[in-house]
Amino acid sequence: MLNKKSVEDIDVNGKRVLVRCDFNVPFDKVTGEISSDKRIVESLKTINYLIDNNAKVILCSHIGKTGQNKSLEKVAKRLSELLRKNVAFAKEIVSNETKDMVDELKCGEVLLLENTRMYEEEEKNDLEFAKKLASFADIFVNDAFGSAHRAHASTEGVTHFLPSVCGFLIKKEIDALDGGINNPKRPLLAIVGGSKVSSKIDVLNNLLDKVDTLIIGGAMTYTFVKAQGGRIGNSLCEDDKLQVAADILNKGLEKEVRILLPVDNVVAKEMTEEAETMVTNVNEVPEGYMGLDIGPKTIELFKQEIEVANTIVWNGPVGVFEVNKFATGTKEIATAMANSNAVTIIGGGDSAAAVEKFGLEDKMSHVSTGGGASLEFMEGKSLPGIEALEDK
Ligand code: ADP
Ligand code: MG
Repeated sequence: MLNKKSVEDIDVNGKRVLVRCDFNVPFDKVTGEISSDKRIVESLKTINYLIDNNAKVILCSHIGKTGQNKSLEKVAKRLSELLRKNVAFAKEIVSNETKDMVDELKCGEVLLLENTRMYEEEEKNDLEFAKKLASFADIFVNDAFGSAHRAHASTEGVTHFLPSVCGFLIKKEIDALDGGINNPKRPLLAIVGGSKVSSKIDVLNNLLDKVDTLIIGGAMTYTFVKAQGGRIGNSLCEDDKLQVAADILNKGLEKEVRILLPVDNVVAKEMTEEAETMVTNVNEVPEGYMGLDIGPKTIELFKQEIEVANTIVWNGPVGVFEVNKFATGTKEIATAMANSNAVTIIGGGDSAAAVEKFGLEDKMSHVSTGGGASLEFMEGKSLPGIEALEDK
C-alpha cells in the first residue's frame, strides 16, 4: 500500500510552499479564453488549505507542450477570481525579478509562476533547473496527478532538494486507485476495453494478479476471439498479438481468475450514425462487418457481474461510444456501475470522457483525472512524481 505524507502531515505555518498544480486547461480557439476551468477549480482545496494555514503559496504548472510557449497568465486571473484574492503572476521562472517576488511574498499570499515547459530543462528533469525552482521554497507539494507518471523537474527533480508531500488531489487519487486495486473489498471485478490489446497488455497482466473476475470488451475483444478461432470479419484485430491474447487467457486459467469475453455484438459495415446494424454472435461476425459494440446478451451478462462485485475497476470503453449508435453497451455498463453499491473506480482518458458524456461522474466513487497516469497505475508501475514523496 502506498502511504505518502500529505500537506496535513506537515507544518506549513509561515513556510514557503511550492505547489505543482495541473493547470493544463483548454482555451477556446475563437475567444482565446479558458474554455473549462475544471482543473483550476479542483486545485482550490489544496491552495485554500495552505492559505488558511498561513503558508506563502508559490504555484507552478505546465501548460501545453514544450516549444508551444503557452502562458499561464489567464490562469492566474481565473484563479484569483475563484480564490477571491489577488494571485501575483511571475512572467519568468528563472529571473531576479521572480526571486524578488518570492522574497516579498507574505503569509497567506499566492504567486503563480509561468509555464514550466517554457524551459526545455523541465522535461529533461534538469537538476540545476529543479534546484532553482526548489530554491523558492521550504516545502514541495505535488498535486498534479496527471503529470505524476513523468519524471520532470517540477514533478520529480524538485523532490531532491525539498521535503516533499502530496496535496489533496493526489491523495484522493492514491487512496482510490491504490485502495481499489491493491486493497479492495472483494470480489474485485475489472472491466478492460478500448481499442488495442497492445496498449493494454500490462494493464491486463497486472490486473490478472489482483482481480477475481476480468471482463474484456471493446475492439480488443476481436484479437481474443480470433485467437480462439472465431470469425471476426473486418473488426479491429492485432494479428501480431494473437499469442499475447492466448497467453492472457491461459494466465487466467492458472490464476483461477474468471475471464469473460462478450458473447454477442453489434456489427456494421461502417462506424457512422447512419450505418445499418445487426446483432451477431461475437465469433460469427460476417465478412465486411465490424464489431463496434457489445450486444444485448453481453450487456445482461456483464451487468450480473457488476451486481455481485464489491469493487469495480474500469478502464476502456466497451464500444465506439463516441458514435451514439454504438454507445449503448458503454452506457449500460456505466449506468450499472453508477447504480451499484460497489466501490467504482474509472481510469483512462476515454473512459472518463464516456462517464462524463453520460452524466454519471457524480455517481462513481472515483473518476481519475489523470489519463496516462491512471493507466500506468493500473499497469502496476510506480509513478515517479508520487514515488519521490515522503512516506508516512
Ligand atoms: P482509455 O483512454 O479509457 O484508456 P482507450 O484509449 O484504450 O481507452 O480506448 C478508447 C477507444 O476505443 C475509443 O475511442 C473507442 O471508440 C474505441 N473502441 C472501443 N470499442 C471499439 C470497437 N469495437 N471497435 C473500434 N474501436 C473501439
Ligand atoms: Mg485513450
